[in-house]
Amino acid sequence: MENLSVLEKLHNSFDDKLLDSIKIISNCADTFGIRAFIIGGVVRDLLLEKPIYDIDIVVEGNAINFCRYGEENNFFQICRISEEFGTVKIRLKNNLEIDIASTRIEKYPTSGCLPVIEKLGCTLEEDIKRRDFTVNTLALCLNSKNFGTLIDLTGGITDINKKELKILHDKSFIDDPTRIIRALRFKYKLNFNLEKHTQKLCDDYLKNFNNNPICYERIKQVTKLAFSLNSAKLFDEFVFKNIYKLVSTSIRKCSGTKIFEAISTFLPKDNLSNLWLIYLACLINTQDAQKLNLNTKEMQIIVALENLLTQNPNFQNNFEIYNFFKQSPIESIICYISLTNSTAAKCYLTKLKNIKTDLNAKALIQLGYTEGKLIGYTLEKLLEAKLNKKNFSKNDEIQLAKKILLDF
Ligand code: ATP
Repeated sequence: MENLSVLEKLHNSFDDKLLDSIKIISNCADTFGIRAFIIGGVVRDLLLEKPIYDIDIVVEGNAINFCRYGEENNFFQICRISEEFGTVKIRLKNNLEIDIASTRIEKYPTSGCLPVIEKLGCTLEEDIKRRDFTVNTLALCLNSKNFGTLIDLTGGITDINKKELKILHDKSFIDDPTRIIRALRFKYKLNFNLEKHTQKLCDDYLKNFNNNPICYERIKQVTKLAFSLNSAKLFDEFVFKNIYKLVSTSIRKCSGTKIFEAISTFLPKDNLSNLWLIYLACLINTQDAQKLNLNTKEMQIIVALENLLTQNPNFQNNFEIYNFFKQSPIESIICYISLTNSTAAKCYLTKLKNIKTDLNAKALIQLGYTEGKLIGYTLEKLLEAKLNKKNFSKNDEIQLAKKILLDF
């Protein structure tokens, strides 16, 4: 790949603010005397001419010392330092915030668990070895002498051209099984395939996986990113290729297409934050979900679905349907529809959920009610009538409310 075309891509993909920022970092790196690179998925996306919102920069050495120098010499400000990881968030004068990392060597003392940093401030070559797929190892020089030169130590460019995801060594998935879910996400996000040997190692890992200790916090993060793609095919592969074993011991039978359709039909577009969890909740039970460190709202979605599924309702009218679903989060009901195709649940979400009585407590008081339990009882009766009877008007509500008061 020619430098010129990479530079052209850089100018096409980065807005002026980002370009200005990397030139300032480049200047700072030149004067400090350290090699600086844009690295990882950003470079992959740059070559693929995908939009770029965020960049990762690595300096070959200690990023904290480099950033302190940059701040003292007025190149940028430091926002936050993580001493443990040797990373720094900086803010440039144009207000853009960028993460600068130190090169590092990581080791996995226990397979599947978090890596530990063996050395902070190693060579670029050593840093690249800790990464997941060849297409994610590319580095783009920022120093003025080689500005825009691509460094490809693993054949990443060839693999981008072949649209293949290839791990760097045979123990990669054993070290870090979250890479299996990352691979699945990249497969569908980038439209790539797993290279043959990588696919075999992935299949072998999952075949032999038997609830080995793994870091569920990271599993949750990567699963969230993967399911957020809202891809039916990705979900089906998660199930059929046994990737689900990383999150759950057993699963319910369900289809990605059904979930996708239920989401498209019933999930409001301004409520997408838990979209990923609809895919997960369809699959796993409460017990397995507990391992995943879900927050309270997320856990509620799983528990409410399980409650719905354990009952066997036989609805006589709309009011019963309403009462059956009214406590459940919409995400749980969408899962329920995906799994059972329930017409009652569909009716609840499209019609019943939004039905409200015309009268409220204040209106009842105007009709002669005094504050107390009777108001709650009457409002419930009005709602029941409104849900069960066709064209139950405001006037009908007033008549019913008066009758209840009279009978009382
Ligand atoms: P995307 O922008 O789609 O998230 P990305 O490749 O930038 O893709 P990040 O999670 O931001 O993904 O990771 C940045 C880089 O860090 C990756 O490109 C890869 O080089 C490295 N990396 C991230 N996670 C892992 C991992 N589990 N194992 C090894 N390297 C990883």
